[in-house]
Amino acid sequence: MTNDPFRLDGKVALVTGSATGIGAAIATALAAAGADIACHGKDEPGEATMAAVQKLGRRAAGMAADLADRAAHAELVRRTKAELGRIDILVNNAGLIRRSPAVEYSEEDWDLLIEVNLTSAFRLSQLAGKQMLEQGSGRIVNIASLLSFQGGILVPAYAASKGGIAQLTKALANEWAGRGVNVNAIAPGYITTDNTAALRSDEARSRQILDRIPAGRWGEPSDIAGAALFLCSEASRYVHGHVLVVDGG
Ligand code: NAP
Repeated sequence: MTNDPFRLDGKVALVTGSATGIGAAIATALAAAGADIACHGKDEPGEATMAAVQKLGRRAAGMAADLADRAAHAELVRRTKAELGRIDILVNNAGLIRRSPAVEYSEEDWDLLIEVNLTSAFRLSQLAGKQMLEQGSGRIVNIASLLSFQGGILVPAYAASKGGIAQLTKALANEWAGRGVNVNAIAPGYITTDNTAALRSDEARSRQILDRIPAGRWGEPSDIAGAALFLCSEASRYVHGHVLVVDGG
């Protein structure tokens, strides 16, 4: 044990969507700081993420679940506690994007995005939050987006879900800040993951985006890891309801 406020020794974190992209980088960073990790993916938990966690000397419990299935939420929290003993940190990272003009946007895509990007984050926060409130401590980090603040182009459901995530973060923080549970969010800029593959393959859009990033490059998943570690650790103990933008400026 150490007095380093960024250490997470003895803590257990559930990171949704940690098989790939930003979730994999966050899971690995939390493990490097000492946390055991419940690794989650829709179809499979992500062997590479689990191996990275184990290589760091931490325990990894793998779980697959479709977050559009409401029965999955309670099961994920139950399994985290059953397999790793407790739950101290929840990172609501899983999410997806579907692009289409608003007039053509299908009811199916609307429902799916709201369900996975927003409703599952609320349900998981409710379930994990209950445990955290009982133990008097916990951290919830939601992965928001620049589209929590902007409307974007051809992404009405995504923008609505991410706007909702920012508001949910503040609503939960208002209720739980005085009870030892910190709820915050990270709004990543443009990060090179599957989520942005379509944007990056469109040369004109990709150039327009790059021209607006002062740092002069797209972000890497690992660029989000430090902010996540801060918000999951004792170092952020007086930070509540904040949406931390990590976007290269
Ligand atoms: P990603 O690699 O596509 O990761 C998304 C993760 O969400 C995947 O691991 C995926 O699991 C999981 N997921 C999707 N649908 C799911 C479902 N129905 N049930 C369970 N899990 C599901 O992309 P990413 O960029 O790292 O995305 C992570 C988060 O960052 C998302 O919330 C995204 O909106 C947000 N974000 C990304 C960017 C960016 O520029 N990349 C910017 C702002 C915000 P499977 O792989 O198993 O399908």
